[in-house]
Amino acid sequence: MRAQPRGSHFINGNFVEDDAGNRFESVYPATGEAIASLTGATVKTVDLAVQAAKAAQPAWAALLPVERGRILQRAAALIRERNRELSELETLDTGKPLQETLVADAASGADSLEYFGGLAAAVTGQMIELGGSFAYTRREPLGVCAGIGAWNYPIQIACWKAAPALATGNTMVFKPSETTPLTALKFAEILQEAGLPDGVFNVVQGFGETGAALTNHDDVDKVSLTGSVPTGKRVMATAAETIKHVTLELGGKSPLIVFEDADIENAIGAAMVGNFYSSGQICSNGTRVFVHSSIQDQFLKRLKERTEAIKLGDPLDENTQMGPLVSTAHAEKVLDYLDIARAEGAHCITGGARTIVAGFKHGMFVAPTVFSGVTDDMRIAREEIFGPVMSVLTFETEDEVVARANDTQFGLAAGVFTKDLARGHRVAAALKAGTLWINNYNLTPVEMPFGGVRQSGIGRENSAAAVQFYTQEKAIYVEMGDVDAPY
Ligand code: NDP
Repeated sequence: MRAQPRGSHFINGNFVEDDAGNRFESVYPATGEAIASLTGATVKTVDLAVQAAKAAQPAWAALLPVERGRILQRAAALIRERNRELSELETLDTGKPLQETLVADAASGADSLEYFGGLAAAVTGQMIELGGSFAYTRREPLGVCAGIGAWNYPIQIACWKAAPALATGNTMVFKPSETTPLTALKFAEILQEAGLPDGVFNVVQGFGETGAALTNHDDVDKVSLTGSVPTGKRVMATAAETIKHVTLELGGKSPLIVFEDADIENAIGAAMVGNFYSSGQICSNGTRVFVHSSIQDQFLKRLKERTEAIKLGDPLDENTQMGPLVSTAHAEKVLDYLDIARAEGAHCITGGARTIVAGFKHGMFVAPTVFSGVTDDMRIAREEIFGPVMSVLTFETEDEVVARANDTQFGLAAGVFTKDLARGHRVAAALKAGTLWINNYNLTPVEMPFGGVRQSGIGRENSAAAVQFYTQEKAIYVEMGDVDAPY
């Protein structure tokens, strides 16, 4: 098998197998070829990983923050040096085109390691004057953190969780999605090569029950999940048993609002990036595109032309712009939504079906699809599809579009296109979402907080904001005078 790792799990600095675990294969979505065979972790292996992380944590936290940061920055440099090799592996595991993985996956992970590596030494407490006496606070690590990842950005998710956790003195057990198990193991090797002590970052493979075993574990202090809303609810409920901290990066049905004064070509470009990048398998996608009725015809005409020029094909060919969906099971769900949309009366202006790519008859390629005439009550406007399916809705007034955009249980992201910057800021303030863009879409620089509100999640990744989700504050009162006891 062409991408077989040295072992399924990485615990305490070593690759290990779990012969009692379920065996599963990692499949290259473009061809259906099995590229690796792995075992899932049983509860015993999960426990080994947690105990390794627990044992390693005090010494890791006792290192100077600048020393921890140096190791993370060394790992960032190694990831950059091996970007092509990691990107090719990510393409094989996910089916995403190399054109994307070369710039958006491991590279974004390296940004995160570099950023939090640099920030490690800048995390401080505060000193509070109390009129002679004083108090001070310490930002302390939580302990052992579990990271649980989705399959759309495997190495990026692993890095986005590990970098702030490790920088602040925690250790981690990471479980990738069983659909995309490979790059987290490479990341573990790279961290080791960068000088990370054994046990600080561990990887266990497996299905939902492995994630649940981590979430249940008494010695895990925090769970950070990237996944769907139903999984988020389960994780939060399980974590409640032991009052664990949780960060939840969940799904969305985000609005992208295009006002009549917008730069239309830019708005179309952003709508395409925000619906078709990674074959639409991105949580923050702007899948409800609200276009002012006065520009609808012009918008749809150019959107159709530009969408039909997207090049689907061999993911390993750098000219390919769109690959297959991650799996047959997932593609079937997406294709079902195409039928649902038509049955509900939406008008398909382009795409709308599976596409067979020459030489890749087993790949589940779905043509980039645009539905117009979508109304707020249709299922394609309410439910997360997680595929290359854009819904275009029209509106007349600002108040109306803000109310409709907010009429959802989700709140991950939103976008506004307008040349009127006062309106841009006003609408951004009124939209109920955790991450917004004015005149762009889906950019997630490490310097900017990322995360959702309402059912799209709790907590923030990236930026200095992430530090508070991997640390807890201890307050210490220091008496400088006598004790004033009434007894
Ligand atoms: P899932 O929710 O199905 O799975 C996410 C992870 O949780 C997987 O590793 C999964 O394991 C694991 N898991 C499943 N059940 C449990 C459980 N009971 N306890 C603990 N862990 C469990 O999501 P997908 O992998 O299908 O990813 C797609 C979803 O992720 C979409 O809804 C998308 O919006 C969301 N997402 C959110 C992002 C964000 O940052 N907000 C970014 C990317 C995706 P296994 O896969 O092995 O079953």
